[in-house]
Amino acid sequence: MKALVFTAPGVVEIHDVPDVVAGADEVVLHVDRAGICGSELHGIRQPGFRVPPLIMGHEFVGHTDDGRRVAVNPLVACGTCELCLDGKTQLCRTRVLLGVHKAGGFAERVVVPRSSLHDLPNSIDWDHAGLIEPVANALHAWRAAGSPASKRIGIIGCGPIGIACLEVALDGGAEFVACADLSHERGTVAKEIGAHQVATALEGEFDVIFDAVGTSSTRTSSLDHLIPGGTTVWLGLATSESAFDASAAIRFEKSIRGSFAYTNEEFAAAIALAPRLNLSWSTTFPLDQGAEIFTALMNGQSTPMKALLQP
Ligand SMILES: [Zn+2]
Ligand SMILES: [Zn+2]
Repeated sequence: MKALVFTAPGVVEIHDVPDVVAGADEVVLHVDRAGICGSELHGIRQPGFRVPPLIMGHEFVGHTDDGRRVAVNPLVACGTCELCLDGKTQLCRTRVLLGVHKAGGFAERVVVPRSSLHDLPNSIDWDHAGLIEPVANALHAWRAAGSPASKRIGIIGCGPIGIACLEVALDGGAEFVACADLSHERGTVAKEIGAHQVATALEGEFDVIFDAVGTSSTRTSSLDHLIPGGTTVWLGLATSESAFDASAAIRFEKSIRGSFAYTNEEFAAAIALAPRLNLSWSTTFPLDQGAEIFTALMNGQSTPMKALLQP
């Protein structure tokens, strides 16, 4: 079968690879859409969790041999530790991500645990379904902030995660949402989706700020623009180390919440939420063009906003 393989730092190539075989409690999934994630653009430049050769892709949807249309929760947890038993599978110490630690969705077929499948409603088409994973991330971040309806929300970064945060905030009843991004194209998408204010940087104070970038400067900005007692939720992973004014955070009781992935329940909730959202900001390309698209995005091209690959 055909697959887009991460073969060496900075290199992805279409290869013919052996077809997959399902083991016990596993299913062969025919991939219909697999989204390219910003973390993959970073992850293949410097060696990290992703070790080549690897078929990446953790945002994928598809159908089974018997015609079930499903989204896949790519986060596979042990299911037995105290965190898993508490529903916090995203925090399981032995969690494994399909497309990161094991083969993922940039292929014609992929093997997934049967327990990772979530049925899709007929009302959602493949292009929209391909955005469920980023929506699940945003839903988790929104809940991490205490589901702050009727509040002033700031969002730093208008890539797919920032846009998904915007959608979830608007759906969740935010009073005012401001978005910041250096890219004019991305800011335009945020405006179309319904952001009340779009600029290259946040201006003024907010009750809650989502940082979907994760550099030292965006983390600093996410604290500087909070009201006293406010909360910033950090989802962006651009850099691991950051300098910020911790004493100001202490004196004005500002909270920093990390947000990673989603619980299984939130993944299901994102599927239920998706039909209500404006998920028209992706562009679908054949899997064959995956290497070109990857290279363009890696080289800093900011469009398409979200590329979905279709085997
Ligand atoms: Zn991702
Ligand atoms: Zn566990």
